[in-house]
Order: sequence, then structure tokens, then C-alpha cells
Amino acid sequence: MFNGKICVQCGKNNVIADFLCNECYLKEHPLIESEKSVEIDACKQCGAVELAHQWYTDAFEDSTHDILKKAVARKILKSWKFTVRPIQVTVKTLDIIQYPAELRPSSLHFSIIIQSSSPLIPPELFESRELSAKIHWITCPSCINDKSAKYESKLQIRNYNEMDHHLTTKDIVDFVLNSLRSISSNDEPHKVIVEVKEVKNGVDFLFRNRNVAPQIITYFEQEYPVLVKQTTEFMGFDKSKTKPYPGRNVVLVSFPPYKKGDLVQYDHQIYQILEFRGKKVILWSFDQNQPQTFFSSILWNKKFKRLAHYEESTRFQIINEEKGDILQIMDLDTFNYYYLPKNWVPDKTTDNAFSGFLWKKNVFPSHLS
Ligand SMILES: [Zn+2]
Ligand SMILES: [Zn+2]
Repeated sequence: MFNGKICVQCGKNNVIADFLCNECYLKEHPLIESEKSVEIDACKQCGAVELAHQWYTDAFEDSTHDILKKAVARKILKSWKFTVRPIQVTVKTLDIIQYPAELRPSSLHFSIIIQSSSPLIPPELFESRELSAKIHWITCPSCINDKSAKYESKLQIRNYNEMDHHLTTKDIVDFVLNSLRSISSNDEPHKVIVEVKEVKNGVDFLFRNRNVAPQIITYFEQEYPVLVKQTTEFMGFDKSKTKPYPGRNVVLVSFPPYKKGDLVQYDHQIYQILEFRGKKVILWSFDQNQPQTFFSSILWNKKFKRLAHYEESTRFQIINEEKGDILQIMDLDTFNYYYLPKNWVPDKTTDNAFSGFLWKKNVFPSHLS
């Protein structure tokens, strides 16, 4: 039965004005004119959060998230455009998204309710949204004055995500945190960290103490085929202006720019990279026709270079087996013929076809299982 309270657009019965429900009314009279991304400032050293030019410590620890909610609401009021000035922006729910796990969160997820008041719009009208805010990690004024916030050693890790290790920045952060735990049997390794920042091709760790970055080297060397370079960074002269201060220790850990399966050349011989195993690398030697194990330091030798990426390998088909030890094969892309010693063909072939590389008119079958 018609009671005068059914929305003429959608038929729902929560009519607020003009025979329309909240949703349908908003479609014709939106409250929000334009949104902007929300970003709040927090201190990377002490965790304080900025709200109306004041810094509040423990804002992240407070379970009500009161300061965070107020900071988000204030940013929205200040930066968004509204058709009617809201009487209130309320942050209803707020979740802190932790990343990296034990360090500083990267973003907040929240829902808001915007209520406006004007003689022109119904008083109970509201608009809600679910959004994420970025946290802009800076140094708060009191930490800028605190000398202990400065770092004395730096660990730079590069190219881990280009490798076949499938390592993410989070994996690297966890690895460093675990290494820190075993160095100092410290349950709060993040306390020696001044800052962690993602940079192009990697991540940087800044540590409070000179010895921290060099101590982590062995952990990386035992686990990964990395190249480590250690240098010091000039920090200025002491008061006498003659002796330099002890420089910062800078440790650069680079993952090799190669992938499993790549065709490479080392000291005039051709190999395929089969596996990275800790400090070792296992290569298929085409000269020896068998796998060989090397120290991964050869990956950084000037005589080591890549001839082809594994992704560039092609399929070959065995055409003719009746020539003694030599097989005739065909490139399945170009239909060109080649010859190959029989014992060079990998054991496992499907339908007499196999993948391999064509390099300088020679075929090098892939031995990656
Ligand atoms: Zn409606
Ligand atoms: Zn601070």
C-alpha cells in the first residue's frame, strides 16, 4: 500500500526529500564536488602524528585511533571540495595497514560519513565513503633537534627483485630483521634502525650504530649469491678542523643481474645458469656437457657476461637421427636446419622437441629442468 514514503526512483522506503531516498537524492545533489588523496604526516623516528600543527605521540598505539581519525577528518575538510560545507566529517572505522611488518605502517584504511547542513538540503542527508590514506613519514620538529636520530651506518640492498629468488622488499626487510635478532639477541631489532626507505631497484636501511651494517654482510653472503662492497661516507671534520670524524659505514649488497636459465659466457666458455645456491652457482657447461659448481663471485668477474635471456629461448625439433652422432634439428620459429651432437640433446624431450638458444648460428639446448 502506498504510504507516501517510497522513493520514486528506486522504490526503497527511506525517503528523505523530493520523494527520493538518501542514495537517489545524492545522485542528483551530490555533497562532494571533488576528492583528493588523503595523506597524513607522521614522524619516522618517534611515531608522532601531526594534527593541526601539533604532534601527538602514541597515536598509532592508541586503540581508539582517536588522533588518526581526527587527522584524517581534518585533511578531508581542508582539501576536498563540497557543494555544501559539511557540518561534520566523521571517520567511522580505521585500520592501520602494517608494512613492513615491524616497522612503520604505510597506509590507513578508513570509512567516513559526511553530513552537511543547509536550508537547501534535508538535514539527515549523509554521504559515506571507504578510502585509504597514505602516511607521509617525515621527521617531527623535536626529532630534528635530537642528535640520536642520526645514523652511523647504511645498508643498501639492490636488484633482489630482478632475480629468480622472487624476493620482495618485505622478504628483504624480514631477512634483515631476523639477522639483527641473531646478532644482538635483541627482541626489538627495529630500535637500531633509524629509517628504512624503498629506492629505485632496492631498499636502504639506516642504522644508529657504526657496526650494524657491516655485521649483516655475513648473513647475506651465506644465503644469497650477492656482491658486497663496503665504503665509508665522509662526515666532516672534528672541532680541531684537521681530523675527520669516523665516517659512516656504507655497505652495498647487490644481487647478480642474471636469472636461472640465462645463457652466459665465462672465460671464453659457454654455460647456462641452472641454479643459485647460497654462495655457489651451478652452471651447465657445454664444453664438459655436465653441470659445474662455481663460487658465485664469478658472476661479478669481468669475464662473465650474458649472451641471452632465458625468455629468449626457442623450440627446436629433432628431424633426422640417422647421421651417427650428429642430429639434424629444426628451429620451429624460422624452420631453419641445424646440426647438434646427439649427446648434447637434453634427456627429457617432448615429441622430440626441446628448448634452446641460438647463438652465433650454434644451438645450445636448455638444461633447465
Ligand atoms: Zn531511491
Ligand atoms: Zn619525532
